[in-house]
Amino acid sequence: MDHLWQFNFQGLSFTLKERQQLGIYGLQPPYVRTQEEQMEICKTFIERLELPLTKFVYLMDLHDTDEKLFYRLVSENVEAYMPIIYTPTVGLACQKSSQIFAKPRGLYITSNDVGHIYDVLKNWLVPSNRIICVTDGERILGLGDLGANGMGIPVGKLALYTALAGVNPEISLPITLDVGTNNKELRDDPSYVGLVRPRMTGQEYDDFIDEFMEAVVKCFGQHTLIQFEDFGNHNAFRLLHKYRERYCTFNDDIQGTASVVVSGLLACTRLTGKKLSENVFLFLGAGEAAIGTADLTVKAMEREGLGLDEARGRIWMVDIDGLLALDRPEGGVDGYKQVYAKKHEPVKDFAAIVNDVKPSVLIGASAASGAFTPDILKAMATFNERPIIFALSNPTPKAECTAEQAYTNTEGRAIFASGSPFGTVVLGDKTYQPGQGNNAYIFPGVGLGIILSGIFHVNEQVFLIASDTVANNVSDEDLAVGRVYPPLSNIKECSIQIACNILEYAYAEGKSDNT
Ligand code: NAP
Ligand code: MN
Repeated sequence: MDHLWQFNFQGLSFTLKERQQLGIYGLQPPYVRTQEEQMEICKTFIERLELPLTKFVYLMDLHDTDEKLFYRLVSENVEAYMPIIYTPTVGLACQKSSQIFAKPRGLYITSNDVGHIYDVLKNWLVPSNRIICVTDGERILGLGDLGANGMGIPVGKLALYTALAGVNPEISLPITLDVGTNNKELRDDPSYVGLVRPRMTGQEYDDFIDEFMEAVVKCFGQHTLIQFEDFGNHNAFRLLHKYRERYCTFNDDIQGTASVVVSGLLACTRLTGKKLSENVFLFLGAGEAAIGTADLTVKAMEREGLGLDEARGRIWMVDIDGLLALDRPEGGVDGYKQVYAKKHEPVKDFAAIVNDVKPSVLIGASAASGAFTPDILKAMATFNERPIIFALSNPTPKAECTAEQAYTNTEGRAIFASGSPFGTVVLGDKTYQPGQGNNAYIFPGVGLGIILSGIFHVNEQVFLIASDTVANNVSDEDLAVGRVYPPLSNIKECSIQIACNILEYAYAEGKSDNT
């Protein structure tokens, strides 16, 4: 693709001396631009670009041509640019990735590399790597199987480690495991850049991931943090449980999501006056995000004094086959869902379930757009003075309801948060600035804390520490505008505090290998 803006940013910032030393004197006009001046020029340029996708391409170009400027720009303008390099625009960028593919920004390891994965890793040539974000592209955001086009996700996530937690980009490595795709449309697309084959499955897949994990340790050492991202549900839980005691690893969709949602729920307690354990939770979706969140919510309720069964009893869940009910004829309830199944007649209709369970907290993690209908929202407002509505599905068009729908159908009493950003909503004389329950509050600080402390096993306590830290950063002013998360502009402060709190925990509990 031919970019009109592809001029050399960095060139203009070189001082006279640098230009002479590099032998480029005379190749630039004489003016030396400061980074501040360059940032202003970039901002103006981005504002003029109309399409989010074009802004994405521009920012990625900047990433390639002047990394320092890119990170400073994002880091000082998180609210403006995070929605571009991350959800929602990154989703679109992944979908269009074959068309906008310009330059590889991570490592591709494919099913053709079985037996040689270590050699591929070595090609990265940066032995100091400490954080890997890896996807197999099977469940990119709520968009499904995007195969090798999912690379934008690990690239975007690792960019946030730098922009939001100051991690040196040299020590991070985005990886896509291209094991094929079951997305037929992609396979039929002549511009698709990945392997044109169905997904590897079964033992073959497991052996491939095993080889990958071993190769990472051999290449970069045992303390390399391996973040799993956007794997399909059937693999995500399995791999987390298989590897969590043997490697330094976590799954952001399960654990990072849990942490950010629990932090929002903890902040809600200040608005409702109810302890976490005094709530009844209903989840739409019983997948990675929902089960992860439910499990951490249970831990947080146990901390408030509830027994395990009592805590689980407060959580109701609905999957594609309806309420998780013991003995339901259709779909059964297996795996990690089982502990949340209730003695209840099987019900499929979500509105009926809401009216029956009468939850105080409704959490959507189903990618079922619009599933929180006006009637459901209105019902929530009849059972609760302050109904808590979290519509977490990403990107924006997948959300279970919009911020505006949540407020207008509850007389403005809803406490709303979402996964992708929604703008300000004005209702009568009240202005709401809903918060974004975005994992970006969590994983950069958690990752920084882990690599600095040398924690090897990433347990749930680490994520609870992150939840508490983010919740403690929510001010009364935030709550007054309906925001149960700190403003995005505070996210760097949160990351640093999370890392510090994890370090304290690691040293106090003897979890650190650096002692
Ligand atoms: P997942 O593991 O595939 O889970 C999706 C769940 O939703 C499954 O339990 C599925 O049921 C259920 N489901 C799908 N369609 C449904 C419907 N029409 N009615 C009821 N349930 C339905 O995916 P995930 O990782 O949990 O992600 C789900 C969504 O959450 C995605 O859009 C993702 O972007 C979003 N998310 C947001 C955040 C955040 O905002 N911080 C973080 C992570 C994920 P079955 O189990 O029966 O298949
Ligand atoms: Mn994800």
